[in-house]
Amino acid sequence: MDGEWDAVIIGGGPAGATVARYAAEGGARVLVIDRRPVIGEPLQCGELVPTNAEMARLCPNVPDLDDLLRTPQTAISRFTDKLCIVPPSGRALEFEFGGQILDRVAHDQALEQAAREAGAEFRLGTGVASVDGHAVHLADGTTVRGQVIIGAGGPHDPLRRARWREQSLHVAVSFVLMEGDFPDRVELHFGSVAPGGYGWMIPKRGGANIGLGIQPRFARGRPLREFLVEFLAHYDGRITYRGGGLLPMSGAIRRFVKPPHLLVGDSAGMVFPSNGAGIVTAMVAGRIAGQVIAEHVRDGTPLVEYERRWEAQMGCEMRASQRAAWFGALLFRLPDPLVNLAFSRLSRPFVWRAITCRPMFGLF
Ligand SMILES: Cc1cc2nc3c(=O)[nH]c(=O)nc-3n(C[C@H](O)[C@H](O)[C@H](O)COP(=O)(O)OP(=O)(O)OC[C@H]3O[C@@H](n4cnc5c(N)ncnc54)[C@H](O)[C@@H]3O)c2cc1C
Repeated sequence: MDGEWDAVIIGGGPAGATVARYAAEGGARVLVIDRRPVIGEPLQCGELVPTNAEMARLCPNVPDLDDLLRTPQTAISRFTDKLCIVPPSGRALEFEFGGQILDRVAHDQALEQAAREAGAEFRLGTGVASVDGHAVHLADGTTVRGQVIIGAGGPHDPLRRARWREQSLHVAVSFVLMEGDFPDRVELHFGSVAPGGYGWMIPKRGGANIGLGIQPRFARGRPLREFLVEFLAHYDGRITYRGGGLLPMSGAIRRFVKPPHLLVGDSAGMVFPSNGAGIVTAMVAGRIAGQVIAEHVRDGTPLVEYERRWEAQMGCEMRASQRAAWFGALLFRLPDPLVNLAFSRLSRPFVWRAITCRPMFGLF
């Protein structure tokens, strides 16, 4: 398997597998390298994505969502149509939201399968140690070469670290899977319960995914695990799994392309910072990158075309989400009574616009 490839992709998560699928469908010879022996494991996710119909409303400039988001039934735990924002007062603001709650491990494995069916090859259980021009050096001592090298390795991507100076804010997140009966709605909790972030309860079939993220600078020296223990005390059930990870929360970085290198997904900060959603954004970017790579290999389309198409499809929503997150950062400094005021019936439309990545105040 060593040798020359059109595209060598670091990481086989939603971003990398989607790049692989579309690049291979376009005729490119693609190798995906992932240090995990089994794609998707261990689970590191809240497992909530919008339904395809909701996604079409949230990101209207993304074309042909049904081709991109082909989540099989086996990767869907359940659906929900309500999302609640819960301030410290407990007086929830309820919104209509078409949510699809995943079995994330099965979801990522379905993306891997789709990439393999398109012709991409996978090398699992070996990490990428470094990248030097067109050469990708693996931890097992072998080297592969690619015409294009894609960093889709998430928050710790080695290509991002080596070639990009821009820093992203990473929020530490911790969660559990709990068996039991839970309300039929997604809950997002704000205030001192999760300083600088939020807590979530996402109902699943037969249980829930419950977790939170904080920013240490707002947490007055208290560790994440203490906040999680306090938050979990609000729920009743048997914990069957514990996980955690890092979430990039400052939004997409400015440039994703430095030929022959490009970044996709979390490695490029492509999580909406006003709601923490990164699965579908990684896949939107992955499709664009994969198509551009195939065109680049076929007829020399410049790789920077990927940035132009991302801007056309996701630029407005990402910038609105970044502005909302800056606004939210002001909230994080407030005591709970003021947070209650900020999440009131009066502010309800602005809160919803912020969470759903639309300009909070009309144009801004
Ligand atoms: C706890 C938690 C909860 C979340 N909840 C949600 C949610 O509910 N909804 C949502 O939309 N998003 C959620 N996210 C964000 C979402 O998981 C990410 O945005 C998404 O996984 C990004 O996909 P990706 O392919 O860019 O990165 P990843 O899914 O992180 O995939 C990166 C892959 O690269 C591999 N890799 C890393 N380094 C190397 C290396 N050196 N060599 C080889 N392989 C490497 C990894 O093994 C991994 O398989 C959550 C994140 C966390 C941490």
